[in-house]
Amino acid sequence: MSSMGSELAGALRLEGLTKLYGEHLALDGVSLDARAGEFVTLLGASGSGKTTTLRCVAGFLKPDSGRVFLNGRDITGLAIHERNIGMVFQNYALFPHMTAADNVAFPLQVRKLPRAEIQRRVAEALELVHLGGLGGRYPRQLSGGQQQRVALARAIVFRPPLLLMDEPLGALDKKLREAMQIEITRISRELGVTVIYVTHDQEEALAMSDRIAVYHQGRIEQLGTGEELYEHPATLFVASFMGESSIFRGRLERDLSGAYLANERRRIPVAEAACARLGLRPGQPAALVVRPERVRVRGAAERNGASASVRGVLREVVYLGSARKYLVDLGGEQQVLARVAAGAEQDWPSVGQEVTVSWDLEYGVLVADEAAEGAPPGAAAPAESAALEASR
Ligand code: ADP
Ligand code: MG
Repeated sequence: MSSMGSELAGALRLEGLTKLYGEHLALDGVSLDARAGEFVTLLGASGSGKTTTLRCVAGFLKPDSGRVFLNGRDITGLAIHERNIGMVFQNYALFPHMTAADNVAFPLQVRKLPRAEIQRRVAEALELVHLGGLGGRYPRQLSGGQQQRVALARAIVFRPPLLLMDEPLGALDKKLREAMQIEITRISRELGVTVIYVTHDQEEALAMSDRIAVYHQGRIEQLGTGEELYEHPATLFVASFMGESSIFRGRLERDLSGAYLANERRRIPVAEAACARLGLRPGQPAALVVRPERVRVRGAAERNGASASVRGVLREVVYLGSARKYLVDLGGEQQVLARVAAGAEQDWPSVGQEVTVSWDLEYGVLVADEAAEGAPPGAAAPAESAALEASR
């Protein structure tokens, strides 16, 4: 048989996929380019269209419009078995009456490979997922994590150019899930296979992916590296979906002293560069996003031209072992979240005390405020919202 490398090259292109279930638009023009060998994660809340996208790629579902290309070839109309794509699902879907080795051998038997070749490849695949020696066991004799490894071996044993994984670690506990995240990343790199991975867990997405597509209501809201999405979210939705943040909403103002995000309660300095990057004009609704690890909390006021600071009351301190989380109440339901790594603490104020929270201007990320878009110019700024994500 030919070497692994020559069978691969799994560049995937999705062009304007739409899918309607009755009245419900499950996919609303999904376009995506994954390079050969790239690990791309579809990240989004339940119901946002991730599985529907995978089903269109795998061939279980025909999109109402749009096309799927694998290595430049239009596969939109091909049957499932003509696509040669590997798949792993949350429920391992192993054959219970077959041993692990027989499960892994199955795709090769379907492809009518010679017996010796099958044996060699099955041993190789089991070795790759660290199950060498357990091939004779039945699924019921394996742990959840081991079963998922068998499912993974079965999905890659025929050396598909493209591997689809739909929440494969959803049924495993946290420790095992994290170990498997590392394993799956290692295996996909070793094989050079293109992976489209689905999860609703943003930490999992950050830990595993070359790039992440953030899904929202059947559309890709933003596609980028984890760092791009976290540090430079393009929309308020992405900013609040990826990690924790404090969010101020208001309108952009500019005067001789600089640029500000202003609402009925306060006026917070923002970096000119951030306004320019977004092309935001004064008067436009905007939101300011600040990540908790960028926020400082001090008992005394801070005066420094390169930072923004606001006064509030320290409401809560949450001990997290490696860090502490500080919740500061600014009034009017506006809160700010700060996260301080253990060891970085100084003289900490206590709960109930008045404090100043501040951050360097460059870490205040501006995004357009889609929710407020269409509000007539000059209308009152939207009420400040407690924009903390549920504490983890
Ligand atoms: P995700 O995988 O992101 O949780 P899905 O792609 O499974 O989301 O579903 C997207 C939307 O389409 C959801 O609102 C879901 O209820 C709907 N949907 C999915 N499959 C069907 C179906 N077979 N019939 C009707 N609606 C469906
Ligand atoms: Mg799903």
